Amino acid sequence: MSRKNKVCVVGSINMDLAVNAERMPEQGETILGEGFAMSPGGKGANQAVAAARMGAEVEMIGAVGDDSFGRLLVSGLRDEGIRTEGVRTMPGTATGTATIILSGGDNRIIVAPGANQQVSPELVRTQKEKIAGSSVLLLQLEIPIEAVTAAAEIASDHHVPIILNPAPYQKVPGELVEAASYITPNVVEDMAMRQESFYSRIEHKLILTKGEEGAAYSAKGKMETIPSYQVDVKDTTGAGDTFNGVLAARLAAGESIPDAVAASNAAAALSVTKTGAQAGMPTRAELEQFLK
Ligand code: ATP
Repeated sequence: MSRKNKVCVVGSINMDLAVNAERMPEQGETILGEGFAMSPGGKGANQAVAAARMGAEVEMIGAVGDDSFGRLLVSGLRDEGIRTEGVRTMPGTATGTATIILSGGDNRIIVAPGANQQVSPELVRTQKEKIAGSSVLLLQLEIPIEAVTAAAEIASDHHVPIILNPAPYQKVPGELVEAASYITPNVVEDMAMRQESFYSRIEHKLILTKGEEGAAYSAKGKMETIPSYQVDVKDTTGAGDTFNGVLAARLAAGESIPDAVAASNAAAALSVTKTGAQAGMPTRAELEQFLK
């Protein structure tokens, strides 16, 4: 069975709603904002898009509500060439949203997980074939941890390598980190993981994103750092998602860790030169042009 280039993502799908205001409203106060933007988000969906733009065949497994946001998000994923048969529409539930108030350099965010919260182990198991038939399974922590673990179990049973992006950070069950082939924390998540008793057992699996310092991976018992590219930074939103999606696509294509990390580091650098999470993610052609 040929499993090359197939990335399966089990994760979150959100609509991000951002409003800009001169100042934050006080308690009980209504003020006029200056602009509003709606953009597709959720770590799962973002990483799926980054992988698809690299040319991977991507399967998305997750859930949206039976509402206009859900329909928009699913059709947006399809437009990227992502297969969405594994995205369940949950009746009577809202699609996940992140409501963001931006003011000056400050931001305040409320995430309403909605349908993402209903991605259960049972739902994941109904999609077993998609996970088992993929070259790489890509996971984050924006859906219930039991569902993440269920997906990892299926992948392990079928010898499918797993990339675990432990974000947003929460305590991860030992069996999940054991099952993961690669774990991709940012610096803050890595600090949190260091407190866990399992840390010494997972160090060899680490691929660390270090913001403007680039990325590092474990090789022969030590961390090998790849410096970042000097770029004109516009918006770092989605840099981590770009990194993870591209890493999955490159590993699915059969690349070595050093080569895949180097490509992800370059793609993530490109993503920070543009505003928006998904909007800033490069295509394979754009990445090749940048690396020329
Ligand atoms: P975010 O939450 O902003 O999406 P993150 O905290 O998950 O990001 P980071 O480690 O900040 O992840 O960044 C991911 C990758 O993006 C880095 O490993 C690097 O390759 C690239 N990157 C981030 N910031 C910069 C920068 N200022 N210049 C160049 N590359 C960057």
